[in-house]
Amino acid sequence: MIAEILSVGTELLLGQITNTDAQYIARELSVFGINQYYQATVGDNMGRFKACLDQAWQRSDIVITTGGLGPTMDDLTKEGVAEYLGLPLEEHAESRQRLESFFASLGRTMTPNNLKQVQFPVGARILRNDHGTAPGAIVEKDGKAIIILPGPPNELLPMFETGVKPYLMERSGEEIHSRVLRFYGIGESALEDRLQDLIKAQQNPTIAPYAGYGEVTLRLTAKVQSGENAMAMLDDVEKQVVGRVGEFLYGYDDDSLASVVVQTMTQQGQTLSVAESCTGGMIADRLISVPGASAVFLGGYVCYHNDAKMRDLGVSGQTIVQYGAVSEQCAREMAEGVRKRTGSDYGLAVTGIAGPDGGTAEKPVGLVYIALASPQGTKVRETHQTRDRQRIRMMSAMTAIDMVRMALK
Ligand code: ATP
Repeated sequence: MIAEILSVGTELLLGQITNTDAQYIARELSVFGINQYYQATVGDNMGRFKACLDQAWQRSDIVITTGGLGPTMDDLTKEGVAEYLGLPLEEHAESRQRLESFFASLGRTMTPNNLKQVQFPVGARILRNDHGTAPGAIVEKDGKAIIILPGPPNELLPMFETGVKPYLMERSGEEIHSRVLRFYGIGESALEDRLQDLIKAQQNPTIAPYAGYGEVTLRLTAKVQSGENAMAMLDDVEKQVVGRVGEFLYGYDDDSLASVVVQTMTQQGQTLSVAESCTGGMIADRLISVPGASAVFLGGYVCYHNDAKMRDLGVSGQTIVQYGAVSEQCAREMAEGVRKRTGSDYGLAVTGIAGPDGGTAEKPVGLVYIALASPQGTKVRETHQTRDRQRIRMMSAMTAIDMVRMALK
């Protein structure tokens, strides 16, 4: 099977947005073993869209379009597909009802142009959009198909998962099951190096490494005929991987360091508070992003100025004068101070130099101290983060959360 992605949107051509939809779909198609020889991007122009569609249709079995499904005049994807295939547009009653209920729930009047979003080429299978107003569609003709998806990634991704993947499985007669293993504390090249022979030899399930922000993931994908036990195949490969790099494995699929910490602390009945200087609330943000964090996270202080560290956390003036705000001693007092003030089991603190200015030979940019106070005592880690200010802050936040995770083991 050959597929081609056709991305629609003038903003893509102008470089105003990055084509993350195509990146995502391309990766998913490769997991299915579907060949892709071309990708195209076209602006919001009917003539040029149909010309690109023609080219893609001639050379592929499946064309996947993204974008151009909105209510405005320049949203022309479905109209273009209908004209190209010679199919009239018709209204999809269920989608219209959903759209009307959506506007009613907001107490807003729906303008007539919104109805454009519920018009589809005759015979299309509709892909429900649970995250936006424009449904997608699959239009089949002559054994080929055009899959029409919305542009916003938060709409496209779930639609691909729930609507497109089952369709691709149905077409190919195969089932695809995958599992993501998440690692922290090991780089992509080191991980690959330890697994090189496994990755090369493994045909089914396949093992695909991917470097995320501060972490590395491995995606295990099993392709099976229906009835075969994909889970057992994935378990078997996972066991081999864990045998080699298990100490860095922290979670699966949608887990994050923060979600693992919240989960573990909930199970253990522990609580946490944070005192943040250079991370400026990033740790609290990550923890609070996890549903159910209230069982664990008591609160936090962002104490950037020395005065705030002394006033809110009880850091001593003597410590600041003698050792500086970026020091093991200050981090320790911040962690112990926040633990005491909130009454939490664990107090986590971060203080460092995010740059680009402010570094010295003795205390360079990227020097970050992370302290964790607990009933067992206080531990302080000196870390050296690299690159720009945002990355230093982000990596410090992740390393700090990971320090809690390790302490809970
Ligand atoms: P809407 O109903 O919001 O108009 P749409 O399906 O018509 O959605 P577009 O109007 O083409 O899609 O794009 C809407 C937004 O979706 C863009 O401004 C952009 O933020 C995002 N988007 C569109 N295409 C892509 C893409 N290929 N990759 C990443 N984001 C995209």
